[in-house]
Formats: sequence, C-alpha cells, structure tokens
Amino acid sequence: MTTPYVSTPLRAPVELPDGTPFWAAAREGRLLVKACKSCGKHHWYPRALCPFCLGDTEWRDAKGEGTVYSFSITRKMGPNPFCMAYVTLDEGVTMLTHIVDCDLDTVRIGQRVKVRFQPTENEGAPVPVFAPV
Ligand SMILES: [Zn+2]
Repeated sequence: MTTPYVSTPLRAPVELPDGTPFWAAAREGRLLVKACKSCGKHHWYPRALCPFCLGDTEWRDAKGEGTVYSFSITRKMGPNPFCMAYVTLDEGVTMLTHIVDCDLDTVRIGQRVKVRFQPTENEGAPVPVFAPV
C-alpha cells in the first residue's frame, strides 16, 4: 500500500511577539530553537526562562535534522491524508510537526528527516515540516 503525500494548505500560525525571531528565521528557511545562556541546554517549546535552571534563554540556529520519535497517519479527516509526527532534533529537543513529500506508508520510527518550510494560507509565516533525508 502507498499513501502519497498531497500538499494541503496549512492555516497561518499565530505570530506572538515572543516568537518574532522564530518566524522571521522561518521566512528565511532557518529553524531556530531556544537554548539556555546559563546551562546551555536546548528546549522546546520556546520559553523566556530555561525549564531546567530558570536561566535566560536565547535563539540559536538548529541544524534542521533529526529522527522520527513517533508518528500517526490520518487518512479520513480533511481532503488528503497527512502524517503528524514527533521529531527529535539533533539538538535533543522533540517537536510536533508534519512529515511531507514522501509515501507516508514509508515513514518509520527512527527515520532520519530534514526540515523544510511549508507556506501557509493568507501569506502567513511558513511552518517547519520534515521530509525523509
Ligand atoms: Zn538552563
């Protein structure tokens, strides 16, 4: 069985002031994650204070590569099947995202994936999604 990926317009993200650098980078095709200026650990979702030590945080460029931690393919909701997944970036954080541009039936836990940015409706910021390497 194959489930080809069909691009479906995504709703534009709500851009809050704290996330301005993230969305500006996304428009340039760069993925940012927050890291702590005290302990150095990355975290996701982005926060003003480190969840490990309460230190101040800063945005850092992520490599944009990771592995599928878990995933689910939805076949009967909306116009096209889609695959939501938790992807663990090489920086160690795990983010909820979509897997795109592949036969969705080939997605596997542990699979290597790389970020790309998908346009959203109403000229919203592009959102990070992942495709197999
Ligand atoms: Zn910290």
